[in-house]
Amino acid sequence: MADKVTLVCTECLSRNYSTEKNKKKSTERLELKKYCPRCKKHTLHRETK
Ligand SMILES: [Zn+2]
Repeated sequence: MADKVTLVCTECLSRNYSTEKNKKKSTERLELKKYCPRCKKHTLHRETK
């Protein structure tokens, strides 16, 4: 059961990445440091629907 999730930059709220996650295995919200082309730096990205 993999769910598609979108990762948004927490600084500018751009939707930069999409990934899949297993709902059964990871119940907490994903937070990843990723490069944001809009901020032109690495920022924290959080999952959204
Ligand atoms: Zn950004």
